[in-house]
Amino acid sequence: MKFTFMCKGDGKGGRGRVAVVGGGPAGLAATGYLVCQEYEVDVFDKLPFAGGMMMFAIPPYRVPKESIIEGVEDLEKNYGAKFNYRTKVFCGSEVRHDEGDEYVEKSLDLTKIIQEYEATLLTTGIWLSRKLGVPGDDARNVYSALEYLYSWSVYDLGLSTHKPPVGERVVVVGGGYSAIDAAETALVKGAKEVYLTYRRTIKEAPAGEYEVRRIMSEGVRWVELVQPTKVIVENGRVTGVEFVKMKLGEPDESGRPRPIPIPGSEHVIEANIVLAAVGEVPTPPLDIVCDGIKADPKRRTIIVNNRMQTGVENVFAAGDLITGASMIGKAVGSGLRAAAFIDSFLRSRRVV
Ligand SMILES: Cc1cc2nc3c(=O)[nH]c(=O)nc-3n(C[C@H](O)[C@H](O)[C@H](O)COP(=O)(O)OP(=O)(O)OC[C@H]3O[C@@H](n4cnc5c(N)ncnc54)[C@H](O)[C@@H]3O)c2cc1C
Repeated sequence: MKFTFMCKGDGKGGRGRVAVVGGGPAGLAATGYLVCQEYEVDVFDKLPFAGGMMMFAIPPYRVPKESIIEGVEDLEKNYGAKFNYRTKVFCGSEVRHDEGDEYVEKSLDLTKIIQEYEATLLTTGIWLSRKLGVPGDDARNVYSALEYLYSWSVYDLGLSTHKPPVGERVVVVGGGYSAIDAAETALVKGAKEVYLTYRRTIKEAPAGEYEVRRIMSEGVRWVELVQPTKVIVENGRVTGVEFVKMKLGEPDESGRPRPIPIPGSEHVIEANIVLAAVGEVPTPPLDIVCDGIKADPKRRTIIVNNRMQTGVENVFAAGDLITGASMIGKAVGSGLRAAAFIDSFLRSRRVV
């Protein structure tokens, strides 16, 4: 996978200044598009480098870090994009803490950025993990998949000297990409036994049957139709997870068969590390409302119209931030579409 850009622009800007908040695949794709259209682009990201989940969550054997570094260098050196790292953007002075905030050195007020630039694009993704929601889920050695993968990424990139725990027996809960990556990483890093547990069957796993079978062939044990009921903690340490068996019922609101617990089928899988991969939620740079920019109070996604414009006409949003958990390709497409709308918005302003 390559993240380099080819365009006619000389990177000198001249057609206006655009701020991109969030340097993941959506923000990077938009930056590439906009510098090619001769805009001056400043990217703001809370992390020490761009790439978002590709750089700091997805393991390197799936998305090689070198290609991301190459693409970002290309944007900087050849097209004049400016990357402002370790900078958290938030509306107002009470900045919310999200996952991945450890490297933040300064915070900037979103309203000031909006005033300073002709257009602003928000692409801050989904940097908050859902909890298991069962007793014991806040015990030591229970981590979110994002927290675990992020810790390994910063350690492997040499940004932290704190080696994350390996664990003898690791239980992962979930069936999406985060679950697959967490289970595979645990195995690669030296865990002796890794269980990937999911409440439906392999056919319904969001990561797809192929991915599940692939990591099974590497040694991960797949346990389907189970749901955790509690994390067992003894003397402050995790010793296992109690599960109840499930059966599938009629389709639920997601269209997939509803998993129904089978009473009396409780059983324990021993573990000394538990990884919760039960989803991440959007982390907009605001709490529900910031001037005219609004997030859906339930889903936390930023609300945009069909031109990807928020309630403030020169502020746009893209990527996982408007859809919830998605995929790299979709985030890239979303960033490109938003950039095209920004371009036509700024062009139309000049004509008038
Ligand atoms: C563990 C995991 C594994 C995945 N595996 C795959 C896979 O194999 N294949 C696939 O296609 N997809 C995968 N995905 C999904 C994919 O990574 C995302 O859909 C994609 O990265 C979304 O891109 P984005 O630009 O919207 O957000 P992100 O990639 O999350 O980028 C958002 C950026 O915004 C920055 N940011 C956040 N808040 C602020 C703030 N307030 N101020 C400044 N900066 C901020 C973050 O530091 C980050 O750099 C995976 C996701 C996860 C979590």
